[in-house]
Amino acid sequence: MQPTWTSIKEAVRLLQSKEIVAIPTETVYGLAGNALETLALAKIFEAKGRPTFDPLIVHIAEHSTLNEIAQNIPPQAHTLAQAFWPGPLTMVLPKKPCIPDLATSGLPSVAIRFPAHPIAQEIIRLCGFPLAAPSANLFKRLSPTRPEHILEQLGHKISGIVDGGTCSVGVESTIVSFKNETVQILRPGAITPSMIQALVQKVTIQPSNSAPGKAMASPGSMDTHYQPRTPLHYNTKAYPKPLPPNTVRLAFADTQHPLQATLNLSKSGNLLEATANLYDYLHRLDRVPHELILVDPIPNEGLGIALNDRLTRASLK
Ligand code: AMP
Ligand code: MG
Repeated sequence: MQPTWTSIKEAVRLLQSKEIVAIPTETVYGLAGNALETLALAKIFEAKGRPTFDPLIVHIAEHSTLNEIAQNIPPQAHTLAQAFWPGPLTMVLPKKPCIPDLATSGLPSVAIRFPAHPIAQEIIRLCGFPLAAPSANLFKRLSPTRPEHILEQLGHKISGIVDGGTCSVGVESTIVSFKNETVQILRPGAITPSMIQALVQKVTIQPSNSAPGKAMASPGSMDTHYQPRTPLHYNTKAYPKPLPPNTVRLAFADTQHPLQATLNLSKSGNLLEATANLYDYLHRLDRVPHELILVDPIPNEGLGIALNDRLTRASLK
């Protein structure tokens, strides 16, 4: 039976009453709440089972809101906002006092994004306040790119889900911070290092937190994240032998492999298409009786950097 999705008007009413609602964005679906109200923020952490040391991204729908919630904004941030907002870029900037500490896990900085999705923009504008919106999934699990994905994980824990169809980008936003003159990429996404490099002098890519004992530049970037329940093995060249009987293979391009492809992220090897399909295909393969998901290697360039990041985190440790 088709569930009744929440209308934009009803979502706004719920959000104004400090409830939490899943809304579409171009990256993945977000679990939204009033970013200025601690009660709404607490409900987000609670529903996701997300630890409060993992700060949230605050979503805005006007360029001018940036100056209301952040301060000491470096010129590079304005350059990137002009180029990539609205869009899948999140910027970490010193926060103004109106942003509660709960949103930023006590950090003096806040992560801010202006999403491109027209429904997200309309909801934020009608609410009249910014929305905190982490991905609408349980902590560490697969992000949702279709409204049905949310029903499974969070349906009974939240006040509504707005149907905006399939997310066009399909992976979480690129996150950057600023240090002196340098733009640091904390999480790869659809705004690639070379796109940023074209506009600012210095760009560094923050390595993932795999190195033991290293301080986390970005508190939520755990080694294991974005995981299906079914064990996932990324890069099939080193797959375990013998394979469990119910192994499924998520292919990319026309990679040769003894196991037939169950689904193909992009037969033509198109990275945009593969990114848009990633979470939906993982949701489809993450089913009983599947015992292992093998994923073909994807070139680690351009958008492929974000895919490699997510698949490495999704894989068996
Ligand atoms: P998401 O889980 O997609 O909502 O992204 C939130 C992530 O943004 C967190 O897990 C952090 O990695 C990053 N983030 C949010 N706020 C900050 C901040 N103030 N400083 C550094 N990273 C942040
Ligand atoms: Mg998430």
